[in-house]
Amino acid sequence: MLIVMTMAATAKQVEQVIERIAALGLKAHPIPGAQRVAIGITGNQGAVEPAVFENLPGVLEVIPVSHPYKLVSREAKPENTVVMVSGVPVGGDNFAVFAGPCSVEAPEQTLTVARAVRKAGAQILRGGAFKPRTSPYTFQGLGEPGLVILRDVGREVGMPIVSEALDERSLELVTKYCDMIQIGARNMQNYSLLRLAGQTRMPVLLKRGMAATVEELLMAAEYMLAEGNYQVVLCERGIRTFADHTRNTLDLAAVVAVQRLSHLPIIVDPSHGTGKRHKVVPMARAAAAVGADGLMIEVHHDPSQALSDAAQAVVPDELAQLIQQLPALLPLTGRHLSRALRLSA
Ligand code: PEP
Ligand code: MN
Repeated sequence: MLIVMTMAATAKQVEQVIERIAALGLKAHPIPGAQRVAIGITGNQGAVEPAVFENLPGVLEVIPVSHPYKLVSREAKPENTVVMVSGVPVGGDNFAVFAGPCSVEAPEQTLTVARAVRKAGAQILRGGAFKPRTSPYTFQGLGEPGLVILRDVGREVGMPIVSEALDERSLELVTKYCDMIQIGARNMQNYSLLRLAGQTRMPVLLKRGMAATVEELLMAAEYMLAEGNYQVVLCERGIRTFADHTRNTLDLAAVVAVQRLSHLPIIVDPSHGTGKRHKVVPMARAAAAVGADGLMIEVHHDPSQALSDAAQAVVPDELAQLIQQLPALLPLTGRHLSRALRLSA
């Protein structure tokens, strides 16, 4: 259930509604909007009686939420959410490019790729230190030393960093070293990990599970919002289908579907979405045209030597050309390239 306050409602009236919710043993989630405050209610097993709130001063309306997610819904917050990643806005009219190697392999490799993606115009540096690999015999990532490398390189080039957390322990480490936590496709329905990420107050990049519906993606995000963390960016990264011309099927219609249902930003990862280097840039352009809020692109200066996802890594020049093409596409959906506020290097 959602309680929408009038535009003229005072802070005291909002507080009274929150107190009434708490008195019923439920959890209140005030959601400030541009026009008015909405208050989401969670923790109820069945329906809550609207009459309890309808006559409280400052209440405009009480809306029963028909779908299972509440706080991520546009009903809860009509305006687009902008997530700030250490100075870089993602969402709203800001289009952000996340780029970097699939894995942090070594200090020189990470620095070389980071310098190149920054020069190409990317705003956020990615790099995995805890890798969820299909085979236990392949490179599993450098672990904590990898995060140290990524942090140092991020500082050196002046870019915020994002890295994947696989479990509770790696979540603690990613929280310590990074600006944003990535929850990967394989963990999208790891509800205990989602709750823990929700208890941090860090931005989270939540990737769509490879067999997850849009509703399941939104429900996964809801876990974090329900814990009080509203800084969630969604990511379409392809789903498993019968098609074998790509690694996954990049579902760009999911971007449109999510934007209709939710206020959260959604970016697109055409690297995992296609798995093939020659398909990455064309699908990245398509994502920009469809109205995504950003891109995540895997880049390597020498893809043949990459320790993971070599087949889908683009070289820095390809990223640079793509980013040069974005200003022709982004105005179509009222967006512009996000500008990093932190300037250095
Ligand atoms: C990644 O971004 O490195 C990754 C493993 O992605 P996904 O979880 O989408 O497979
Ligand atoms: Mn990868």
